[in-house]
Amino acid sequence: MEFLQYYNNSIINRCMHHYQQLLLSLGSCDLCHQQPVAIPLLCHHCVNDLPLFNYSLSGTNLLYWPAIDRLFPRRDFDQLVCVAPYVFPFNQWLPQLKFHNRFELSKLLAKLLITTNKTCQVVSQETTLLVVPSHIKKWQQRGYNQSHLIARRFAKHIGCQYLPHALYRVEQQKSQVGYSGKERRRLMAQDFMFNEEVSLPKHIVLFDDVVTTGSTVNTISQLLKQHGVQSITILAISLSLPEH
Ligand SMILES: [Zn+2]
Repeated sequence: MEFLQYYNNSIINRCMHHYQQLLLSLGSCDLCHQQPVAIPLLCHHCVNDLPLFNYSLSGTNLLYWPAIDRLFPRRDFDQLVCVAPYVFPFNQWLPQLKFHNRFELSKLLAKLLITTNKTCQVVSQETTLLVVPSHIKKWQQRGYNQSHLIARRFAKHIGCQYLPHALYRVEQQKSQVGYSGKERRRLMAQDFMFNEEVSLPKHIVLFDDVVTTGSTVNTISQLLKQHGVQSITILAISLSLPEH
């Protein structure tokens, strides 16, 4: 009996210790490590310091900005809305969520996405939201698709229709090294498949964590338009901007 009591106490102590650590880690800001949090993981000073896109200047489409418009000369999507450029702290948070299992970041990033959406109004309860799927092999290695973690929280908050299985990605056997840009685009188009059982409305919002060259979201946009979708908004946390 004594042994059992000792054993139980040590479990309780360990649980208490982890609980206290958890409270501490939840209580202070992820960036300054000093202030208490105002939204998930961030204090209000650090929230105000985030390098976010300012939609009061640009309207609700980043493609209206000439410098961004030029990045995507050939595109099949119609609107681009991102929370922030791919700079600090987003260029740390997104890899941490993707590769280091920092799942709590999905809560913060979904919250920032909700705030951007309040300004831009691209997703409402009537919207259908899709997500860029990950390779099944990568999904098996990591056990999750980081974009889905953010999109799921966001969609739940908005109350929109979210179809995480409308698109899937198939494994490319061939290396794409040595192919021309046109060939690579053709090969990439074979990467994505559309689930024919899903019926889609005329307008779709497609979510990705980061838009870099735009080739992934463009390939999927082409596929969706082949299946009757007429307009596509790309919604992302970050957009990679070229170096000046
Ligand atoms: Zn802070």
